[in-house]
Amino acid sequence: MNDLSCMVSNFFEKANLQEFAQSALQPLLDDRLNSRGIRAEILRIDRLHPQISGNKWLKLKYNLLEAAQQGKRRLLTFGGAYSNHLYATAAAGKLLGFETIGIVRGERVEPLNSTLQFAQEAGMQLHFVSRSDYRQKHSPAFIEHLHRLFGDFFLVPEGGSNVYAVPGCMELLGEWSAAYDYILLPCGTGGTLAGLALAAAAHQKLIGVSVLKGGDFLFEEVKKLQVAYAGYHTQNFEIWTGYAHRGYAKTTAALLAFMEDWRRLYPSVPIEHVYSAKMLYAFFVEVEQGYFAPGSRVLLVHTGGLREKD
Ligand SMILES: *Cc1c(COP(=O)(O)O)cnc(C)c1O
Repeated sequence: MNDLSCMVSNFFEKANLQEFAQSALQPLLDDRLNSRGIRAEILRIDRLHPQISGNKWLKLKYNLLEAAQQGKRRLLTFGGAYSNHLYATAAAGKLLGFETIGIVRGERVEPLNSTLQFAQEAGMQLHFVSRSDYRQKHSPAFIEHLHRLFGDFFLVPEGGSNVYAVPGCMELLGEWSAAYDYILLPCGTGGTLAGLALAAAAHQKLIGVSVLKGGDFLFEEVKKLQVAYAGYHTQNFEIWTGYAHRGYAKTTAALLAFMEDWRRLYPSVPIEHVYSAKMLYAFFVEVEQGYFAPGSRVLLVHTGGLREKD
């Protein structure tokens, strides 16, 4: 092990994830659940780290270890202007001593929004590309072009979702989570769901709530990531595609009303409209419609995403 990989491994081992998870459970006491005999708890992984929030911590762990082991001190990754992943990668780079480069979708807009401002202040070099160039992010020619611009780097894909994202997410579940029948989480690229579904107990069902319009592709994406990591895919998960509320980062009047109610009922559980609100909204609609049998125990994963937005 080189110095950098020691440092990365110490950083990520410090939090004993299983212990953390047990301390981060918050029961949801709600008449809409009690009357149907459903018990639900929120898993607050948004509290895992103040800057490397929630599932981004899980997905970065083995990416950064791999980079360090390959002797790469420069990370290059991709995201939109409000990307939690860019934010988390910039923070992790600063904490652990990686140079970071963020390829940002769209034109540079001054002043930078708070996400990009934070990333830049954490030392991330921001490189803005047109939306059509951004769509080339997987093409070898475009990556070659980025190597000509930035030299050697370890590439972390958008959202941090690749084969190295999977084991970090798997480590979240364990004995402590065996009592749940259902595990719900919001889904953007499917990386987190891929790992949780691989680690789930045999009787458990995973549900990924797509926060993007046209989320059907996520089903294949999750399977692809599972196969890449484990050599097989699981059949214990579903993707709910009807709760995107007009699309990524968009809202509807119904979602905003739900969030207003939520803030009144659960002021101690902050949510935002991109991820957690869409997952919780979907949960309560499906409870209402009888998806969950009486006696069901449900784990709602609060994947993070909270910080100041402009
Ligand atoms: C990035 C992100 C997600 C999406 O996770 P995927 O692994 O890409 O599906 C969910 N919730 C929050 C808060 C996120 O920041």
